[in-house]
Amino acid sequence: MTNLNTRPVTPICSAQDCDWNFDWILPARDGSQFLAHSDDLMERMTARKPGRTGFDPGAVELVLNLLTQDCATEAPEVVKLLIQLCHPRSRSLSSIMQVSPVTMKLLTRFGIRFKMVNVLDICRYYFKKRFSEEPLFTFGLAAKTEDIELSNQVIPLSLGFKKSEIQDSLGGPGLYHDYFTSWIQYRKSLIRLIQKDNPPSVDHKECKSKRKKFHSNLSKSLKVSPQHLFDDEWRLEQMDILRSKLNRCRECLQAYEVWLIELMRKATQLPSFESILREAFAAQARLESERYCIEEAEEYVQFQQYLDIYPAPGLWRP
Ligand SMILES: [Zn+2]
Ligand SMILES: [Zn+2]
Repeated sequence: MTNLNTRPVTPICSAQDCDWNFDWILPARDGSQFLAHSDDLMERMTARKPGRTGFDPGAVELVLNLLTQDCATEAPEVVKLLIQLCHPRSRSLSSIMQVSPVTMKLLTRFGIRFKMVNVLDICRYYFKKRFSEEPLFTFGLAAKTEDIELSNQVIPLSLGFKKSEIQDSLGGPGLYHDYFTSWIQYRKSLIRLIQKDNPPSVDHKECKSKRKKFHSNLSKSLKVSPQHLFDDEWRLEQMDILRSKLNRCRECLQAYEVWLIELMRKATQLPSFESILREAFAAQARLESERYCIEEAEEYVQFQQYLDIYPAPGLWRP
């Protein structure tokens, strides 16, 4: 372990209206050093003031040292941004959108590791606006910060990824299992819908004879996948392709367009990801309370045996 010098060179903070001294240094990977207020950092990590909750000074020092070690392997722009966001006077939401997604992802990792609630709020604000560029990362962030609204927002864009990619976004197998199983269940319901909903049969005589092969192969050539069911741009692209292949036959085109629109409408009427997730949470809570009852009952029996007493009438018995 490298011995990091955390003592500041200068005690004066340049932020407006800040009369606190610098008492901590966070280093970056390239050797640059950034001055910080340790109280700011601690407050972000615990959402409380260390002094007020009576933190053990040793524990404070330990957490700050861990943060310092992590920073020492990080790019300077990430460390600089971390300090800026922790400082109460220099937080600005409007300028945050100019930060690159790469930097914000690294910052999110810090936020999660050190439970920096305010930093994570800003990360969520950022990825809420950028979720279409980073659907996989946003899905993981939503799960890790238990932001059900954000996960529901990003879910249509996550459907095109593989199971293993979704698992990775959640931090690996077994982590945030409710989110993972709900994702699979939701996707399955959409696949089932696609499988049972065939394209309309063609009763347009002229097309039926002329383009028989095309019509019979349409469901294969369209290849509707779960992620397409919420993508109007995809539908318009498909209509363009169909237009050229059907030689602009209005009758057939209309039949296919109505079918696609209807299929997409049916997808929105299935139980949402959010409702599946809430059901999974509820089932988990029931399981935990059952387990608690069993443990409680076992304890109760042991207690009885130990003290050799009888329960008062009307008391719940295991
Ligand atoms: Zn300051
Ligand atoms: Zn036709």
